[in-house]
Amino acid sequence: MTERCVVIIGGGLVGSLSACYFAKRGWTVKLYEKRSDIRLAEHGHLVEHRSINLAISERGLSALRRLDLGLERRIRGLAIPMRGRMLHTVHGRQTSQAYDAFGRHINSIGRSTLIRLLLDEAESHKQVSMHFSHELISADFDAGRVALKNTESGEHVTAHADLVVGADGAYSRVRQRLMGKVAMNYSQTYIEHGYCEFSMPPRNGAFAMDPSHLHIWPRGSFMLIALPNLDRSFTCTLFMPWRQFDTIKPGDDAIVAFFKAHFPDALELIGELHVRAEYEANPKGSLMYIKCSPYTYKNKAIILGDAAHAMVPFYGQGMNCGFEDVEFLDRIMLKVLGDGEQTAMLTDAQLLCALDEYSATRAPDASAIVNLALDNYVEMRSKVVGYAYIFRKHLEGLLHWLFPRHVIPLYTMVSFTSIPYATVVEKWNRQTIWLHRAISAIVAAVGIGAVITAVRLLGSRRLVSAVA
Ligand code: FAD
Repeated sequence: MTERCVVIIGGGLVGSLSACYFAKRGWTVKLYEKRSDIRLAEHGHLVEHRSINLAISERGLSALRRLDLGLERRIRGLAIPMRGRMLHTVHGRQTSQAYDAFGRHINSIGRSTLIRLLLDEAESHKQVSMHFSHELISADFDAGRVALKNTESGEHVTAHADLVVGADGAYSRVRQRLMGKVAMNYSQTYIEHGYCEFSMPPRNGAFAMDPSHLHIWPRGSFMLIALPNLDRSFTCTLFMPWRQFDTIKPGDDAIVAFFKAHFPDALELIGELHVRAEYEANPKGSLMYIKCSPYTYKNKAIILGDAAHAMVPFYGQGMNCGFEDVEFLDRIMLKVLGDGEQTAMLTDAQLLCALDEYSATRAPDASAIVNLALDNYVEMRSKVVGYAYIFRKHLEGLLHWLFPRHVIPLYTMVSFTSIPYATVVEKWNRQTIWLHRAISAIVAAVGIGAVITAVRLLGSRRLVSAVA
């Protein structure tokens, strides 16, 4: 049997899941993560300015399920189901919008809980070695060699592998190196909005709001959202243009006044002291998206997750898409292998074929979800309260319930199915066209009907007056 070895750069969500997959398929896995081991940290919940909790949905769960190691069950046990959005008006009125006509839900899970679980799982395979506080410095893919620096001791280390996987996030160094080797199309765009997190503590030991919803305070150009945590707190995230953040200086009461004006009910539940202290202490994160392609170099290197397609967080799909990358790659490798389950047996030519196919087929899907995530920000912060949006949502929900295979709302396709993202967009565009036609036809029919009735009524009145 071929002894294949993979070096994975990045021990975040996607890197740790990749380690589990490669190990299951017989590869020797060496994982390098530049941070120290999150499992040893006392307060491991703030991971490099990323969100404290995340929504995991079907695509992410499917990747866990496929491993067949009971991970999905364990993660569901640590997650809180969110069945819809709860919209909050400035006056504190709450309206629930279910996510799905059949009651399917997304799940709120702690980021560090998920990483810890995946790292534990990866480490349980004997052919996996994990090296924390090791930062990738450079890579020679042709020679199968990577150079790393131990960030604690300063020592330099070299590792060898058949394949280098870059799961090193949006600022990926593996991607940078890849760019030097292939003609990569690449774009990186910062949006004009940033975010800041606040924590809403439990009230008398219970959740301060309904935990079965993702709460949203849509305010047009900005919004606050809140996801529940297992400890009965909520993590609230304020998304807002930077220029607006700039007008609210930390350390004074401006942030409290801002909450009073726009999110008074949230302010009451978080507490003025908390809002002030957290606005001062918590980092403000920037938001950007990346599109690039190809993702691979020969049969030597590949980038997955945010390294390949960082996106804004408004569809809750960044990690889900990254997990799906890992599953997708595994499926292609198995298909190319043809016989058996140990992709460590792939020949060089087969590995090349698998990576080429991965890159060609995955790029349109990644690009589609990057765009959808951008669009969803406008939906969440303003459209959700518009009549046209609510009308279409109800109509589609009803049609989906009646014809579940023929009419599928966009959110359902993205969050509760594994239909490829690019196909989701195509289907949605087609659905939009015929839905508009159907609505126009109904409106026209109702209009014509009304005219005919009015004419008849008028006619009968004339007849009555003529008789009289
Ligand atoms: P990362 O999580 O960035 O992990 C990369 C890892 O690589 C890190 O551990 C890093 O330390 C390491 N690394 C980097 N450089 C090096 C190097 N040179 N050498 C060694 N190691 C290195 N997604 C969802 O699916 N649902 C959500 O609800 C959701 N909410 C979000 C909310 C916010 C506010 C944000 C910002 C993002 C959200 N996301 C969500 C997106 C999600 O966080 C990312 O898509 C996900 O973290 C990507 O995982 P990753 O492993 O590819 O990258």
